[in-house]
Amino acid sequence: MTITAVDALERLQEGNRRFASGGGSADGASLVRRAALVSGQEPLAIILGCSDSRVPAEIVFDQGLGDLFVIRVAGNVVAPSQIGSVEFAAERFGTRLVVVLGHSQCGAVTATLEDLRRTAGPGSRNMRSIVDRIRPAIEVLLATDLADDPPTLLREAVRANVRAAANQLRHGSEVIERLSEQDGLLVVGAEYSLETGTVDVFDGVPVVAGR
Ligand SMILES: [Zn+2]
Repeated sequence: MTITAVDALERLQEGNRRFASGGGSADGASLVRRAALVSGQEPLAIILGCSDSRVPAEIVFDQGLGDLFVIRVAGNVVAPSQIGSVEFAAERFGTRLVVVLGHSQCGAVTATLEDLRRTAGPGSRNMRSIVDRIRPAIEVLLATDLADDPPTLLREAVRANVRAAANQLRHGSEVIERLSEQDGLLVVGAEYSLETGTVDVFDGVPVVAGR
């Protein structure tokens, strides 16, 4: 019996509250649990997050073995293999919540801003492939007043990059589109704060009556 997207989001937010208050670490890696997962998995959420060592999804959401299907790539960018990974988990395991998880002080977003301002360029073709996927979402910000306010610019750029990635997932895959329209799949965008340890789910959250 798979958990709904809204219930899964609630579980992640509860876990993040435990983590942010310093009370995290449920018994998520016990021998019993490991044994129970040999025969299969039913992850409650798919997370597309940044590779940054300070943002491990299982820890910041206080989840255990088998709870999260995690895709991590610098800058939480969406390339075909990321879309394919989301499709695979959504179809194979019935997982109905997808979270794009960006974070404050993201190095990949900073590198893209530096590239746009020509203060530095990415070192290789491979690194450029990441910057190239971030650039379209944030270059418009440089044409605004934010350009004169680097800390705010970076903050807004992180969020713009998350929104763009979430939209690419929503509209860049027939499988994801079909599951969203017919089967309750939800793609949301969130930002983890290195400063406070909290995750703010700011994009794509449905308004639920009575909450
Ligand atoms: Zn990052």
